[in-house]
Amino acid sequence: MKYVDLQTHTTVSDGSMTPTEVVEHAIDIGLKVIAITDHDSISGIDEALQAAKNKIEIIPGIEFSCDGEEFIDIHVLGLCIDHTNKDIITVVKEASRQRLEQKEKIIKKLNNLGYAITINDALEFAKGEVGRPHVAFALLKKYPEKFRDKSEIFDKLLGNNKPAYAPREKGILMQEAIEAIHKAKGLAILSHPGRYNDEVALKLIDYFLEKGGDGIETYYPYNTNPNYASLEESERKVALFKEVAKKKGILESGGSDFHGKTKKVKLGEANVPFEVYLKLKEKISR
Ligand code: AMP
Ligand code: FE
Ligand code: ZN
Repeated sequence: MKYVDLQTHTTVSDGSMTPTEVVEHAIDIGLKVIAITDHDSISGIDEALQAAKNKIEIIPGIEFSCDGEEFIDIHVLGLCIDHTNKDIITVVKEASRQRLEQKEKIIKKLNNLGYAITINDALEFAKGEVGRPHVAFALLKKYPEKFRDKSEIFDKLLGNNKPAYAPREKGILMQEAIEAIHKAKGLAILSHPGRYNDEVALKLIDYFLEKGGDGIETYYPYNTNPNYASLEESERKVALFKEVAKKKGILESGGSDFHGKTKKVKLGEANVPFEVYLKLKEKISR
């Protein structure tokens, strides 16, 4: 069986491997297609395309963090985008500005809670877009005796709605992200709906489709983050979302959400069949 991986991150957001390293690793393990989908960034795509050298197909992508009504921090993938499109570049720039401003607010909250780190401490860990993991690394460096690992910091401080969390100023709306993706000739896919409980996920899927979304990630290794699911529960979620996609007649996608070799998730781990990629391609060519 040939597999593809349609969600990966690099050092231009919070991954630990450069775009070139991710592509070379994908070639090494025999993947035929990967999408580069950095958080609110398209700046790794050119490097990844260069590194592919006809040995693998690279799908230019992005993963926007969006808000919308009762939903916060919802991830929306743009796949097969024209990353030189002006409209998407405008939204990416705005997302990037809000991302930095949000981290400054989070750091202010941390300061008020007694953690004396600065935005520059976090930026030291960021090679591109700054993410909460970079804030966590700065805390781990400064307070090695206080925290076991990044996960503990998210649980206690940085997770959504935790004491040091601050939302983005306005947030990129789901509809805005979807429109920008469409203007860039790409497909808008809802990332990892199984991170929520079934009831919320189904509501979110309906909202996303109402706003113009094209499909959902069905294949996703939820079990690789113990906060999300056991293996059995992960498999149940995948089956559920495959059923939903089929019933609604929408596209399926999937990926490992790879963030680097040192992380729990392995590249290709979602075992996304080649067929899924073919269907996305077919939709694009119409
Ligand atoms: P941000 O892009 O700044 O909103 O940060 C989100 C990133 O933080 C995600 O892509 C994950 O890599 C990481 N993250 C989110 N929640 C957790 C968690 N509970 N434990 C560890 N890492 C997390
Ligand atoms: Fe995501
Ligand atoms: Zn991701």
